[in-house]
Amino acid sequence: MSDDLAIESVDVRVYTVPTEEPEADGTLAWDRTSLVVVQPLLRNGVRGLGYAVADPATGLLARDTLVGEVLGRDVHDTTGCWEAMVRRIRNLGRPGIASMAIAAIDIALWDTKARAVSLPLHRLLGPVREAVPIYGSGGFTSYTEVELCAQLSGWVEQGIPRVKMKIGKDRGTSWTEDLARVRAARDAIGDNVELFVDANGAYDRKQALRLGHILAEELNVTWFEEPVTSDDLVGLSQLREALPLEVTAGEYGYHLEYFSAMLAAGSVDVMQADIGRCAGVTEWLRVAATTAAYKVPFSAHCGPSIHVHPATVPPNLRHIEYFHDHVRVDHLLFEGVLKPEGGALRPADDRPGIGLSLKEADAAPFRVA
Ligand SMILES: [Mg+2]
Repeated sequence: MSDDLAIESVDVRVYTVPTEEPEADGTLAWDRTSLVVVQPLLRNGVRGLGYAVADPATGLLARDTLVGEVLGRDVHDTTGCWEAMVRRIRNLGRPGIASMAIAAIDIALWDTKARAVSLPLHRLLGPVREAVPIYGSGGFTSYTEVELCAQLSGWVEQGIPRVKMKIGKDRGTSWTEDLARVRAARDAIGDNVELFVDANGAYDRKQALRLGHILAEELNVTWFEEPVTSDDLVGLSQLREALPLEVTAGEYGYHLEYFSAMLAAGSVDVMQADIGRCAGVTEWLRVAATTAAYKVPFSAHCGPSIHVHPATVPPNLRHIEYFHDHVRVDHLLFEGVLKPEGGALRPADDRPGIGLSLKEADAAPFRVA
C-alpha cells in the first residue's frame, strides 16, 4: 500500500433541514430531514464526501464506533473497511442505524477512492449506461389536491415521464379519498405519463386487492409500492399474482439476507433498495446482483445524488427515485447536484467522485452535530 492513500481522518457531521411544511405518507408523518455527512481525508490531502439520510444518532455511532475501524487503512480497500465495520457492530444488530452509519462511511470512502485517481465514481465502477432514468416522487398525503397535482405536473413539465404519489392516507382508512386523489392526479398529468402509487404498507391484504384492481384497470396505475407491509412476504406475493400492476418493496432492507428472502418468496416485481440504508455502495451492488439472479428489475429508493453513480452499473436497474425532500436538501447543502435532462440524470465527467461538495456557509445554519 502507498502511505499517501492511507485514511488520515474522517470528519462526521449531522445536518437537519426542516421540510417546507409538515409532510406525511400513509403510515408516517415528518417535518425534517437529517443527513449524516462523512468527509474522509487521505494522507496525501485528498478529501472525499458521502452521506446517508438518517437519524442524528447515526452520526454519533459513525463517529464514535466506526471511524476507528477505517483509520490508517488504504482507501482502495473499501471492501476491507466495510468488513471491519460490519464486524464491529456485531452486538448492535445489523438492521437499522448501524447499517446507515456504515453506509455513510462506505459511500464517502468510494467517493474518496475515485477522487484519489481523479475519476468520477461511475467511471471507476464501470458503467453500462451514461444516464440514469428517474421518476418524480413525492405526492404526499398531507398535500391538498391542488398541491399534489401541481407537483406531479411540474415533473412532467421537466420532461420526467413517470411520477409517484403517496396513498393509504390515515393508515388506509381514507381509501375513497385515496382513489379520488389518484383520479385527480391522472387527470392532471394526462394519459401518457406512467403513474406510480406508494401505500407505505397502509392497507390490509383484501383492501389492497380491491384497490389494486381499480388502480390498474380504471386509472392505469402501473406500480403499487408496499400495498401491504413489507414484512408480509406472503401477502405481497399473493397481490403480485392477483394484480396486473407491479408490486414493489425493499426500501427497509439493510442487509443482503433481507433482499434474498424477499426474492426467494417471489414477493416483488421490482426490487427497491436504498444505498444509505443497506450499508453503502459495497452492499447495494451485491443486492443488485442478487436481484438479477432472480430476473427481477432493480430500482433505487430516494437519495438520487448518492445513487446516481452506482446506478450506472447494474444491468437490471430500471430507474432511481427523484424524491422531492432529498432533491431540495441536496440543493441547499451541496454544489454539483445534477439536474434532470430528458427524464434522466447524467453523472458529470468533469467532477471526481460522486461530484458533490459541501456548501459550508449555506449548510452551517442546519448543522446539529
Ligand atoms: Mg416507498
